[in-house]
Amino acid sequence: MKKRIAILGSTGSIGTQALEVIDANPDIFGVAVLTARDNADLLIQQAIQFRPKEVVIGNEKLFDKVDAALSSYSIQVYSGDSALVSVVEAEDIDMVLTAMVGYAGLLPTIHAIKAGKDIALANKETLVVAGELITSLAKRHEVNIYPVDSEHSAIFQCLAGEGDNPIEKIILTASGGPFRGKDRAFLADVTKQQALKHPNWSMGAKITIDSATLMNKGLEVIEAKWLFDLRAEQIDVIVHPQSIVHSLVQFEDGSIKAQMGLPDMKLPIQYAMHYPFRLKSSFPRFNFIDYPSLTFEKPDLDTFQNLAIAYQVLEKGGNAACIVNAANEIAVEAFLQDKIGFLGISDVIVESLAKIEYIGNPTYSDYVQTNEATRRFASEMIQVKV
Ligand code: NAD
Ligand code: MG
Repeated sequence: MKKRIAILGSTGSIGTQALEVIDANPDIFGVAVLTARDNADLLIQQAIQFRPKEVVIGNEKLFDKVDAALSSYSIQVYSGDSALVSVVEAEDIDMVLTAMVGYAGLLPTIHAIKAGKDIALANKETLVVAGELITSLAKRHEVNIYPVDSEHSAIFQCLAGEGDNPIEKIILTASGGPFRGKDRAFLADVTKQQALKHPNWSMGAKITIDSATLMNKGLEVIEAKWLFDLRAEQIDVIVHPQSIVHSLVQFEDGSIKAQMGLPDMKLPIQYAMHYPFRLKSSFPRFNFIDYPSLTFEKPDLDTFQNLAIAYQVLEKGGNAACIVNAANEIAVEAFLQDKIGFLGISDVIVESLAKIEYIGNPTYSDYVQTNEATRRFASEMIQVKV
């Protein structure tokens, strides 16, 4: 029996790499569903190649185009937000890969968990926004959440075979991004072209900017808390520019396990999709002789404020991380549209945190309202400044 995967965000960086994994392992995986927001051409091409039962194009204006192109195949085409959410409930889905970007991942993930589908989680924003709700829902519905993020996959791989041995702490590695070692005076003038040049990974625009500001590592600290049930003081971040050690776990006897390899997202993607089995792969192997020195340094929290902010909201709990996530999404978009500078991203987050009402025990609708209120506030703040 093939494992039938629904890929949410199939036209993105993670989505296309997941399809490469499926293409290389046609006896193991099948595609049940593909979704995308705007890239109709690629979605059509993917649907013709992989023949899912259902396809959703988020942007309703593109429905006719996708529907016409797929009319001679037995593929159902839908569009719009409600289809993006409900398509995960189909009976013939075994696993949902959440590879869309941002807050938009939250509701489809909730629906997938309620429908009893295992989750391969790339969309870290979902756990950042509502980690408590998602993890308790997954427990209630006996659904597994397998990390796709490379650092969390590394930790998950280090935990294999450890049974109930408690984690003393984890160490998340960070490449440091394109601006490692720079000061605030330098960062004040950097352009989006500079920020979009990640040294080691090729990824979607939003996560690439998040990597340059270290917000990505901050989101990952919060993601790790929920995935592995840790306290803030059990989560360390260390800068490792070569991106060979993908993260580490330290146990109570002082032993540290690391997971290593050349950077390639297909490894964590296929580990999540086929857990607990490893799939043969042909991507290049790491050779120690080619890397005589692997280096490690402390992250600079004064220059890269977003990582410090993430630790603060992790301690604070409630809807604080939801506020940070929404403000960051708006600020990154504004930076990509040249409306604010690089350092302005942190300013938008700090002011949003100060302004938006804190809720200690948020419900789902509190998250929805927090997200909307923060987006409104952050957008207005940026408007005033331009
Ligand atoms: P991307 O921008 O390359 O692709 C995003 C995909 O989501 C596209 O298919 C797009 O059509 C779809 N999408 C965008 N907005 C949407 C919306 N509002 N509703 C539904 N679908 C929407 O992004 P990516 O780099 O593949 O990242 C996807 C997720 O995976 C992010 O949460 C990111 O943080 C996480 N992640 C990515 C990488 C990586 O290497 N790219 C690594 C770790 C984690
Ligand atoms: Mg990562």
